[in-house]
Amino acid sequence: MGTTIHGVLERNARKFPEKDAFITASNRLTYGDMNRTCNRLARYLQDEGVRHGDRIAVMSRNNEHFFFAFFACMKIGAIPMPINIRLTPKELGAIFQNASAAGILYEDELAETVTSLKENLNYYFSIQDVVGASAHFSEGNLHVPIDSRDVCEILFTSGTTGMPKGVVFNHERILAIAAAVSVNFSLTHRDSMLTLMPLSHSAPLNTFFMSGFYCGATHVISDFTPKGFLNWIQQEKTTFSFAAPVAYLLAAKDPDLASYDLSSMRVFAYGGGPLALASYHHVKKAFQNENFYQVYGLTEAGPNGILLYPEEHLDKAGSIGKNPTVNMEIRVVRPDGTDTDPNEYGEILLTGDSLMLEYDNNLEETNAAIKDGWLYTGDIAYRDEDGYFYIVDRKKDVIISGGVNIYPREVEEVLAKHDAVLESCVVGVPHEDWGETVKAVVVLKGDASEEELRAFAAEHLAEFKCPRIYSFVDELPRNASGKILKQQVKLVHS
Ligand code: ATP
Repeated sequence: MGTTIHGVLERNARKFPEKDAFITASNRLTYGDMNRTCNRLARYLQDEGVRHGDRIAVMSRNNEHFFFAFFACMKIGAIPMPINIRLTPKELGAIFQNASAAGILYEDELAETVTSLKENLNYYFSIQDVVGASAHFSEGNLHVPIDSRDVCEILFTSGTTGMPKGVVFNHERILAIAAAVSVNFSLTHRDSMLTLMPLSHSAPLNTFFMSGFYCGATHVISDFTPKGFLNWIQQEKTTFSFAAPVAYLLAAKDPDLASYDLSSMRVFAYGGGPLALASYHHVKKAFQNENFYQVYGLTEAGPNGILLYPEEHLDKAGSIGKNPTVNMEIRVVRPDGTDTDPNEYGEILLTGDSLMLEYDNNLEETNAAIKDGWLYTGDIAYRDEDGYFYIVDRKKDVIISGGVNIYPREVEEVLAKHDAVLESCVVGVPHEDWGETVKAVVVLKGDASEEELRAFAAEHLAEFKCPRIYSFVDELPRNASGKILKQQVKLVHS
């Protein structure tokens, strides 16, 4: 049968029945409390006709309701599909149709968002309502036969490059991530994990929540605000956080940052998207803390990939690391599949115990993504002479101007070094003669004229890489995982 995710919840409830395990803005629940509530709820859902294999969308902000729905589904073999609550009704409609959802479990506060999805669903429950309605059901563990190889979760990619894609996992693969990541970060039940990134996203849920959960750690769960981030750390003495780079940049701007006690934090993990080198140094200085770990991965690999340890940042900041997590392997290959030489650009491939089973309902994309057991990530990278890997850019974002490849990230890195630049998004826009030309969309944090930025770029970049067009904006569009929506910037600024 193997270990299942809800089996880990039951184990934790036995091992740590009284310890605070789920701390949210309005609640403090032990593993025992969580397990009992989920057992009752699972029986209620069973009674309502929810069956093994039914796909149930879970829509909740970051709080205990998310986990009530998530674990209760797993306990009866139903498949939770955590959904990004910030998607538009049209995007939600498309996801629900493709994913053949049988039902939805939603947090009361989202009732309005989900009304348009009601049609065609067999089950439509407010989580708060069903938790209340299940109060008289038995609280003991259920004995539904569920195998660790059964599909247990469908997650959606961030939708940075197009529509989010459904990614299918079983218990075994997710617990492989949990085991590997807990080893890499030396996690134990004594850790207290801060999860403020949306739980509908793979990194906060599959990688960081799961690895602490696997060890019986405490979890502080809430939605992100820069102040909230600092307050939770101080109040709960958390030891670990994972966040998108932008979250650290925002917290670093807090004028009261220096007055917070952040000394409990063993790990500040950042990743899911690039953090310009200059911005990393800025954040580290603002936090007066060295415990920054950079992590690289993608939903299709768990995510479980590779990390750069704090001490490696001294010489190799900007790299995604040298050693993959314990059960993963990494290569960089040429288009013909052969391994690149040091400093040569190629595509990152990953393999290991935690790759997705498949894209949901999309055999063609699955076959294009996984070949001979290796996942083609679509990320361009190189390895230096010491074996450290560096992301150059996403294949889809490369600008081809006059037949020459330009990597936007390299240009963004340079602009980030300018004192007046908070961040930028560099895209290719159509050009009559060259096909595409380079445009920089810039958010300033100080004063700088376009001429100044042009001169600065010319000093640091080859002429053909320098942005020809500049545009200044107050902020860049981002998705729920904090990533800049480059395709949207491109569309608006073309
Ligand atoms: P979609 O596939 O829907 O466009 P997405 O690729 O953003 O969305 P995710 O799985 O959330 O979906 O993101 C994985 C991607 O994020 C990686 O392929 C890579 O391009 C980027 N990424 C992740 N970690 C890092 C990192 N540490 N540095 C740079 N880029 C990163």
